Amino acid sequence: MFPTFLIETIALAITILIISIGLSLILKLIRNLKYDEKKENITEIKLKNRSECPHCGTKFDSKPKYCYNCNCHLKEE
Ligand SMILES: [Zn+2]
Repeated sequence: MFPTFLIETIALAITILIISIGLSLILKLIRNLKYDEKKENITEIKLKNRSECPHCGTKFDSKPKYCYNCNCHLKEE
């Protein structure tokens, strides 16, 4: 069988490996949470920039100068 010190070394290595994997997973989770917050902020900004064509009712995620549906000129406000 393996000598005891070798088994202890392997056990220590596995423990360190598990801890490092766990830490990286936790860090990833934290980063994902921060990313989600940023995403929500971007969605809020997008919602603020939404506009609607007064002629045909087409909704836009931005404020275009012209409506792509009916080609009418949209007011910039
Ligand atoms: Zn339109």
